Amino acid sequence: MGSPYLAALLDLFFPQRCAGCRSRASDVLCGGCAENLPLLEPPLCARCGMPAPFEVPACSGCRGVDLWFEGFRAPLRYEGVGREAVHALKYGGHARVAERLAAPLLARVLPEGRLDVVVPVPLHPSRLRRRGYNQAALLARALAGRIGVPFSDKLKAVRRTRDQVELTAAGRRENVRGAFEARGRVRGRVLLVDDVLTTGATMSECARVLLEAGASGVYAVGLCRAC
Ligand SMILES: [Zn+2]
Ligand SMILES: [Zn+2]
Repeated sequence: MGSPYLAALLDLFFPQRCAGCRSRASDVLCGGCAENLPLLEPPLCARCGMPAPFEVPACSGCRGVDLWFEGFRAPLRYEGVGREAVHALKYGGHARVAERLAAPLLARVLPEGRLDVVVPVPLHPSRLRRRGYNQAALLARALAGRIGVPFSDKLKAVRRTRDQVELTAAGRRENVRGAFEARGRVRGRVLLVDDVLTTGATMSECARVLLEAGASGVYAVGLCRAC
């Protein structure tokens, strides 16, 4: 699409910045950053998406932990260019990062079988007001458009949660309990979308709420996984 001439002309008047290193680039990533994407390759834990020595149904990190989603996958590790791309989404609201970089990467980690609706992890209204948009919704919309599955903002955050960074895994589960509600009934199998997965506590709680609201299953994806 678009001639090289037009692209060059557009670049002259509307120079883009690489989402990985902020240098001028003709696309969402410069050549160097595109080559340095921290791809999260198999073997992975089938349940939580963590790298494992070989494909396992559940790894030592998630065995015995209640996770309400069927499985989780991320195309990238949360480091380097992956971390920068999340930052560009979160603080820059760059829709083109979602459309040109994240959606094609996420489309590579989808589960087998039918998906009926794409739902983002919600942001609490007070955070939404401050930031102006929900980065998970940017991702979910871009992915939904790409794979031709309806987008629906089915979840809302009803309680502000503490910043998860300094909490333990058990503390995170406690922190998100009761933080989300579904907007009405949910039908079919849900693809739940967030930017980064760390312990899975937030996505698991969202999945629990969606199942309670009628979803037949929930599969979770995120742009990055903290490993
Ligand atoms: Zn770059
Ligand atoms: Zn695991």
